[in-house]
Amino acid sequence: EVADDVLEHDPTLARLEARVAELLGLEAALWTPTGCMANLIALMIHLKRGDRFLAPEQAHVLGSELGTAAWIAEGMPHALPWDGGPGRPSAEAVTRAAGRPGPYFNLRTTLLCLENTHNFAGGAVIPVAEHRALVGAAKAAGLRVHVDGARLWHAATALGCGLPELTAGADTVQVCLSKGLGAPMGSLLCGSRETVAEARRCRKMLGGGVRQGGVV
Ligand SMILES: *Cc1c(COP(=O)(O)O)cnc(C)c1O
Repeated sequence: EVADDVLEHDPTLARLEARVAELLGLEAALWTPTGCMANLIALMIHLKRGDRFLAPEQAHVLGSELGTAAWIAEGMPHALPWDGGPGRPSAEAVTRAAGRPGPYFNLRTTLLCLENTHNFAGGAVIPVAEHRALVGAAKAAGLRVHVDGARLWHAATALGCGLPELTAGADTVQVCLSKGLGAPMGSLLCGSRETVAEARRCRKMLGGGVRQGGVV
């Protein structure tokens, strides 16, 4: 069953979005053709021009998205060391890099991007307690949190936990259907209803609004 997803919302895509939002324990979700687009939309929503964002060294948003975080989302990337283990920054590293709000002429850091599992660290998993500590450090510093969960399903399986434990406190989460899940294409960007409504606008701006999307 399909309709026009740009106009009235394709019912099959709508069901997929509702199902994934529920699985992840978030309010809403938006299907995108690729994970790169879902990550980029998240950065577009979270960052204002010149804002700095933090991500672990060799994160997909830093090294594998061709600079779109800077070019389109207008953010300034900052890599965090793997001082908590392979692919994993410590909560202290987040606090240190985030700094404190200062006068208007200070550089502003507003977002932490986590990657679970971390692909270029060999699929390294962030355990639940560590996820909580990282999010806690980010929130204490006034940062928003985006989780690049291209393989979040694999992290949950490895840890034997539920997906919501790995999305707790995150403002947005990106999950891929096309990697280990084996679907031919597609990702979902999940977050609050308000965020997903804004994401739907951004997806259209990037040319990612599809018509009879239910076929995929
Ligand atoms: C593959 C991948 C993406 C992007 O997905 P595409 O669908 O290839 O654009 C994002 N993050 C990570 C960690 C990935 O491995």
